[in-house]
Amino acid sequence: PQQQQRRGVCGNAHAPRLSLRHAPRSSRCAPCRVAAPEAPTTVSASTLNTSFVQDKQQYEALYKRSIEDPAGFWAEIAEQFHWETKWERDHMRYNFDVRAGPISVEWFRGATTNIAYNCLDRHVLAGRGDQTCFIWEGNDVGREKSMTYAEALDEVCKLANWLRAAGVKKGDAVAVYMPMLLELPLAMLACARIGAVHSVVFGGFSAESLAQRMEDCKAKVLLTASGVMRGPKSIDLKKIADKACKLSAEAGHTVEHVLVYENDNAVPAADCPFTPGRDRWWQSEVAAQPTTCAPEWVEAEHPLFLLYTSGSTGKPKGVLHSTGGYMVYAATTMRHVFGLQQGDVYWCTADCGWITGHSYLAYGPLLNGTTQIVFEGVPTHPTPARCWEVVAAHGVTQFYTAPTAIRSLMSFGDQWVSQCDTSSLKLLGSVGEPINPEAWRWYHEVVGKGKCPIVDTWWQTETGGHMITPLPGAWPEKPGSATLPFFGVRPVVLDEKGNELQGEAEGILAISQPWPSTLRTVYGDHERYQSNYFGPFPGYYFTGDGCRRDADGYYWITGRVDDVINVSGHRIGTAEVESALVAHPACAEAAVVGYDHPIKGQGIYAYVTLMAGVEATKELKKELVGSVRSIIGAFAAPDVIHWAPGLPKTRSGKIMRRVLRKIASKEEDQLGDTSTLADPGVVATLVELRGK
Ligand code: ATP
Ligand code: MG
Repeated sequence: PQQQQRRGVCGNAHAPRLSLRHAPRSSRCAPCRVAAPEAPTTVSASTLNTSFVQDKQQYEALYKRSIEDPAGFWAEIAEQFHWETKWERDHMRYNFDVRAGPISVEWFRGATTNIAYNCLDRHVLAGRGDQTCFIWEGNDVGREKSMTYAEALDEVCKLANWLRAAGVKKGDAVAVYMPMLLELPLAMLACARIGAVHSVVFGGFSAESLAQRMEDCKAKVLLTASGVMRGPKSIDLKKIADKACKLSAEAGHTVEHVLVYENDNAVPAADCPFTPGRDRWWQSEVAAQPTTCAPEWVEAEHPLFLLYTSGSTGKPKGVLHSTGGYMVYAATTMRHVFGLQQGDVYWCTADCGWITGHSYLAYGPLLNGTTQIVFEGVPTHPTPARCWEVVAAHGVTQFYTAPTAIRSLMSFGDQWVSQCDTSSLKLLGSVGEPINPEAWRWYHEVVGKGKCPIVDTWWQTETGGHMITPLPGAWPEKPGSATLPFFGVRPVVLDEKGNELQGEAEGILAISQPWPSTLRTVYGDHERYQSNYFGPFPGYYFTGDGCRRDADGYYWITGRVDDVINVSGHRIGTAEVESALVAHPACAEAAVVGYDHPIKGQGIYAYVTLMAGVEATKELKKELVGSVRSIIGAFAAPDVIHWAPGLPKTRSGKIMRRVLRKIASKEEDQLGDTSTLADPGVVATLVELRGK
């Protein structure tokens, strides 16, 4: 009987006679005709280099591996890139605990690479040079352009050669203040090619904001354009850039050269101010450069770029990302979250001035050899059908945008979508804020015709890539939830004392171990980096966001921790109340803040933007409050509804609740840093409507 229990190499129990027969190592167990289970070795991360995650079970096995052996997991994935020299065996080192010394994160120790080489040369050398890399859609309908990988490589080399000739060296900072022309992502790659650190400043920022950012990184060169078209308006970008150079010089930092792209559609050269000596014309100078340029092989930890956060909660932080880990993580999230396949036409509407435009426009798509749309315009110009016309014209397969754009397009009605053929769409993405379930459904049903998965991607400038996100088709989505963590990401839910909560829980979202694209520092202020992100809960990266984990282990972002409202002891996240308001058919957008309340401690103060054409009445206020009561409960019912024709938003479209708090408590004279506010005029309008 003992002998009968013996198992063959297939892992199955067999009679003794049979077990002898299948001693040879075969994966199939012939005698019993079943597939032998895989030997119990660890799952290989390299499967992710060639195929997608099929289901939750496969995800769980890979996820476990990614958490238990991050260095091994990411090294296997990293094999697909070009490294001039390979990493050491023990390549990943970190300290995430302020009590144990300075915070540090290091991946791919000993390796050297070049991200621009991996974005372009790698594909061209593999014979994919003729593939379209960019399809550019200008602000005005009919202005279009496309570029292949080989052409992009030529352009990047020419600009990189110009930068070198202008004296830019490895480690020098280059400021980029450009419209969404192809020259913007090309400029980022040109910097990376020579090991220069780019600092892209969104083209909607003021001279003061640009000056402050150039001064902070001591930018040697500024890349800019004569002007930019935004909807029907033309903006003199170069005039703003000139003012910024002057302000920066007054503060003690002089930019050596300004390279100006003549964007004649907006501002022709004749109307563009030009300082001989310092300024150079892009078109003539760069065209004269050779189309080959040896890449600078940089260490994996060499800084790639610095970029400021949106400033939703206060003064923006200059987040610094390094090369190797960022490259591997941006490329891997890109491929798996968007389910990239041959022949796809991907479109991310973000500007390169934001992290989304860095990871999922400039770097992620090119690292994967994707064909993508680059859009200069705004979603509502000339009509709210613009995005869907572009989708139809180019057969866009994946579309990635922000909830603010979705809510805005939704408020114009369904007809703008219905009149276009959006049948090419396979997947829709969202980023930037919690997406209200109502907006999620509209996106899913009206835009995606009910057949596209929605990837609600939670991440931050600091994280460099997606952190909590669905993987299309691998597990069911729930409207409003970012679902599960990506490989290598270990989120935890903490209580206010910093204890990890298990199972179903609500609290503060933190991350307990580094992922490859962890921010490495706050530029020039490692102290602020440590105190801001690692100080509040020693041992953890503090995200600043609140979240709930449900019974299925899904994560729901409830809003910023700073914005949590405490009503009679109930902790209420802004996202939940806002979603309940947006669920009312008259409400286009809502923003909720707390205010001092004599009895409840804090009361709920809700700003509401109505759908086009809806009248603001007392009855409607009651209905809106009723909507929250019925969806969440009486304890979350807003005490005040404040009509808001517009909301204070950052230039990337996020609601600035701290400004709304000041208006609610009649302290609008103490708004704090509002340098990233898109339209300062909304504050006065809201003050005027207070109590109406
Ligand atoms: P600052 O840190 O200066 O206040 P910011 O946080 O707005 O600015 P970003 O890095 O652009 O700067 O934004 C990251 C934040 O955006 C996250 O912390 C989160 O609050 C929010 N966010 C991003 N994506 C999502 C999402 N899918 N769901 C919910 N919230 C999201
Ligand atoms: Mg933030």
